[in-house]
Amino acid sequence: MVPLFTAMEKTFNFKVLGCRMNHAEQREMESVLRARGLTPNSDAPDIEVVHTCSVTGQAAAKSRNAIRRAKKSGKTVFVTGCFTGTDPDVASELGDVIVKQEGSVPMIERFAQAVDAYLQLPTPESVKRVETVSLPIATLPSTKANHVRAELRIQDGCDAHCTFCIIPKIRTTLRSKTIDDVVTEATRLVELGHQEVVFTGVFIGAFGHETALRRKQTTPDAEHLADLFDAVAQVKGLKRLRISSMEPGDVTEPLLDAMVANQPIVVPHLHLPLQSGSKQVLRKMNRQYDIEDYMEMIAMTKERLLINGLPPAITTDIICGFPTETEDDFAQTVTVAEKVGYLHMHVFPYSIRTGTAAARWKQLPPTVVRERVNQLLELDESLSLSYRKQLLGKQVEVMLEQDLGDGTWKGRCEHYAEITLKTSGTKGTLVPAKVTEVNPDSTIAMPTLQII
Ligand code: SF4
Repeated sequence: MVPLFTAMEKTFNFKVLGCRMNHAEQREMESVLRARGLTPNSDAPDIEVVHTCSVTGQAAAKSRNAIRRAKKSGKTVFVTGCFTGTDPDVASELGDVIVKQEGSVPMIERFAQAVDAYLQLPTPESVKRVETVSLPIATLPSTKANHVRAELRIQDGCDAHCTFCIIPKIRTTLRSKTIDDVVTEATRLVELGHQEVVFTGVFIGAFGHETALRRKQTTPDAEHLADLFDAVAQVKGLKRLRISSMEPGDVTEPLLDAMVANQPIVVPHLHLPLQSGSKQVLRKMNRQYDIEDYMEMIAMTKERLLINGLPPAITTDIICGFPTETEDDFAQTVTVAEKVGYLHMHVFPYSIRTGTAAARWKQLPPTVVRERVNQLLELDESLSLSYRKQLLGKQVEVMLEQDLGDGTWKGRCEHYAEITLKTSGTKGTLVPAKVTEVNPDSTIAMPTLQII
């Protein structure tokens, strides 16, 4: 790519904390820097971009430390990400250039403007956009993403206000890319060598809408997620398409139809945060579903995505020890988890996030929370083993991600299980294999054909 400008020998480095969204945004910001002629240098960069997270108090503390460390080495420190929203004063005090997530102009465009100001370059007209609720592509990616599975941000922002979550106070404006832009970006990622793309977003089910509150989603002519799947699955050379996380209420029949119609590109895996199996706790959390809705949606998903006799992989997030969670509430969570049969549960002990409603409520004793977490972690192991046993003897395709040496690799199959196998394949390629062994710690396969 020809740089928009030439920044004489300036270099950059990124420190990224937090979720997949942040990694997708890092790739977008990196494209902005490269388009201006900056090059990466992790030893002595001119600019260090600290892309922060503050979803928990601990993440905020890590972000603060990362900014401090970057500042000590005398670089110009750009601070971006959620910490700029929760702790703007600290971010301004510690960093040099602050680019907040919130604002009427999309963050990526304000980042581009801040870089231009730092370089004392004129901002091109294309970047001087005014207020918009669309999510523009500032600059198409010019290098591969850090992960084998390339994150592609399709949506940003949330206004659902779950009582434990700070995000709606940080990423306040809901924005979505257009289907055409997502296709363009996915095409570029494939050209750069990625075979798998993962759609990311804060509230992916609000794709095309200006609110995450379903009862208020009345955007005329909204583009639909199902159409997005149809369009991106046609990208030449794309082998796999995955969605990072969906709110349970957004799994609809048209969406499942699109997933089935676009097999095998769209994989039979969904991450559907449960958070709690108790009706009472879900209400206190201000989630947009109750447990009957959740179980109905799970039944529909299992039925529609049953492919070659294998049920879809379902993964989830669960918060343990939310204020007001009784023993009985927790027991209901365990029951729901057993009924669903998750491949994997991300279990989080509830932790106070200042600025949220739940932070003001009476907290459970830490020992109780820890006990419940441990119980769920044990359950996670047994549920994962039960699900993975269904893969035994089945043909899968493994995306090689981690080289363990000696020709041994780890990767994910279409059903998201982590697979270990010996192969001459290379990172980022798909290897057809047959699952030969499933044990509590690993799922082992043997390659069956040459590399795809
Ligand atoms: S849906 Fe709830 S948990 Fe998810 S980002 Fe919005 S407020 Fe946070």
